[in-house]
Amino acid sequence: MQGFNKYYPPDYDGEKHGSLNSYRGKHALGDRARKIDQGILITRFELPFNIWCGTCNNHIGMGVRYNAEKKKIGNYYSTPIYSFRCKCHLCDGWFEIQTDPKNTRYVVTSGARQKDEEWDPEENGGYAVHNTDGAEGPVDPLAALEKSTDAQNHMNKVQVPRLEALQDLADHYGSDPYSLSLKVRKKFRIEKKVEKEKEAADNEVKGRYALPETLTLSAEDEKSIAAAKEDWLKGRKEIEIRENSKKRKLVEVGIMPRLPSSSSASSSRSSAKVNGSSSSGSSSAVASLRARILQNTARHSITNSSRHKPPDRKPIVVPK
Ligand SMILES: [Zn+2]
Repeated sequence: MQGFNKYYPPDYDGEKHGSLNSYRGKHALGDRARKIDQGILITRFELPFNIWCGTCNNHIGMGVRYNAEKKKIGNYYSTPIYSFRCKCHLCDGWFEIQTDPKNTRYVVTSGARQKDEEWDPEENGGYAVHNTDGAEGPVDPLAALEKSTDAQNHMNKVQVPRLEALQDLADHYGSDPYSLSLKVRKKFRIEKKVEKEKEAADNEVKGRYALPETLTLSAEDEKSIAAAKEDWLKGRKEIEIRENSKKRKLVEVGIMPRLPSSSSASSSRSSAKVNGSSSSGSSSAVASLRARILQNTARHSITNSSRHKPPDRKPIVVPK
């Protein structure tokens, strides 16, 4: 068993033993490393495809897992090639599966047969993906000649004219770089001037109304100006209506004097007339109150003049 706690025995000497595992004479991977001296590590391996065992001829499904002996057997460029040796769970036979880095897959090398279920792109109208080998044996010389002639024709009839056309176009645009650059810079200067003018105008507006600098103002044209004007008129009309209704209410209650159009003498009568039948009772009450207040003031002024002393004026409450 591996030492997986941190108990250091009294005779443990760090310099002599190095680690707890070496003190106990164990590998860090424990039992899985029992064949590590042969370069074999026991790993869990899952079958990547269906196979038939070569010894008992049973079908073994994809995904069955074995404690396989994993071993490095070579390299494909810098990629290691591993072999996995597994013992059939239905008999005592062994089979071996290797990685195939060149074709990015696994292959059965001995002890079993792989069920061929690979997708073959060439068979299904596609192209072979992993055809990295150069020549694949002798080819039919006539077919090769035909192929090369076709390629030559294609080159002469399609690709060369196309390349020439592209070359002409490039020559056309690259013939006079000075004048082209001049044209571009002139256009750029004009645009820049317009932009600067607009920016200055915007900044002026922002400064006037203390708007944040990051605010982007919409561009001004006839349409937007007309729309803004319309909005402004609408808002103003709304304010006027609100003010008028407030004023009318105040007049009805009697706080504000009647507008100069109606005479002051007929104020109580006309207000009663304007208010109509629905509020005639309250308006007559207000009128009587007004009369009483006026009487009181007159009386006060008479008594004041006789006493020559300011009276204790009581606040006059006007009902709303
Ligand atoms: Zn078997």
